[in-house]
Amino acid sequence: MLDKSLHRKNSSGESSSGATTASAATVLPPLQDRFGRAFDYVRIAVTEKCNLRCTYCMPEEGVDFPDPTAVLTAAEIQRSVETLAKMGVRKVRFTGGEPLVRKDIIEIVANTANTPGVKAVHLTTNGLLFPKYAKDLLKAGLTGVNISLDSLDSEKFERITRRTGLDKVLESIQCALDVGFKTVKVNVVLMRGFNEDELHDFCEMTKDQRVTVRFIEFMPFDAHQMWETGEHFASAANLVEQIEKFYPGIKTASGTRTEHHIFQAPGYAGKIAVIPAFTRSLCGNCSRIRVTSDGKIRNCLYSDDEFDLKALLRKDGCTEEDVVGVFRKAFDEKHRDGFEAKKKSTEKKINVADIGKGRTSMTQIGG
Ligand code: SAM
Ligand code: SF4
Repeated sequence: MLDKSLHRKNSSGESSSGATTASAATVLPPLQDRFGRAFDYVRIAVTEKCNLRCTYCMPEEGVDFPDPTAVLTAAEIQRSVETLAKMGVRKVRFTGGEPLVRKDIIEIVANTANTPGVKAVHLTTNGLLFPKYAKDLLKAGLTGVNISLDSLDSEKFERITRRTGLDKVLESIQCALDVGFKTVKVNVVLMRGFNEDELHDFCEMTKDQRVTVRFIEFMPFDAHQMWETGEHFASAANLVEQIEKFYPGIKTASGTRTEHHIFQAPGYAGKIAVIPAFTRSLCGNCSRIRVTSDGKIRNCLYSDDEFDLKALLRKDGCTEEDVVGVFRKAFDEKHRDGFEAKKKSTEKKINVADIGKGRTSMTQIGG
């Protein structure tokens, strides 16, 4: 059953009667699916390239597109954002790959922030280049930043990311707070036998810093390096249980739609969230549109169905109606939840050899 009650919140976590009816900027009917879900949040991957090689995400050699024209241009991204804003999209997140390796990222953020209807522009980054761009990003209109960090131990950080840089990431978190970003979150992929022993240390980051530390379930998009055995998976339910033990009497707090479990320890400045990204209890509240860096629309993280936005944008005479049409088609075909999406995608693969093919890294899907 879809939990429609949660549609009272928009993607920024604010209460509203629905972002699409709340703003005069919506000039087209809102983007909805056949189950009544409205989509007001787009995540756009701007590159597949990355300056880290996290073992749970990328193979050692990376997954870059050899052809630079494969990636959507700043103008193509802007055209897509403008159309989506007219259909009720209010929040845009740039991700990748590492979005800050893209040279025109400030221009992309500024264009988006100046788009009528867009209320929030966020970025997910590994933090390595963030201090260099923080002020310019804020000036360009970025409203929130999620910084990924999976270990507070430099040796373990290096093992997970195959690169050095823990100090730089910690500096980024402090810099995001100091520069004045209102929303600063730390994304932690929590894995058994890897960094689960750091759960408490990460929670303690919220004691004095007004950050939300978000524990994300490990998902099978790691280019098949670690997921296969299942031994590293730590469930959201188990993490919640541990957090409740650390802080008896911990209170639930308010958060975004995916922050299904969100807490604030008594007297602490920040919040702790657990994201059931794999167990998928969040599908009923889905409000996300995903656009991959090579310009494919994906209506679900767990579906292999793709809708070719880039080809359309590059066709002579492509109209706004055409762009609207491809987004509507993608969401007309969205499945009820991630389990059904996964099942259908697997069924479509007639040959056993095709199973497991497709996009296998979060950098290719747009994490
Ligand atoms: N490079 C940026 C970063 O690391 O923040 C943005 C892209 S990254 C793909 C976006 C988020 O996806 C990160 O928080 C990362 O930890 C998460 N991620 C990557 N692979 C994952 C996996 N297999 N399971 C769960 N989360 C994953
Ligand atoms: Fe790069 Fe982010 Fe993937 Fe790590 S999680 S390899 S930083 S894209």
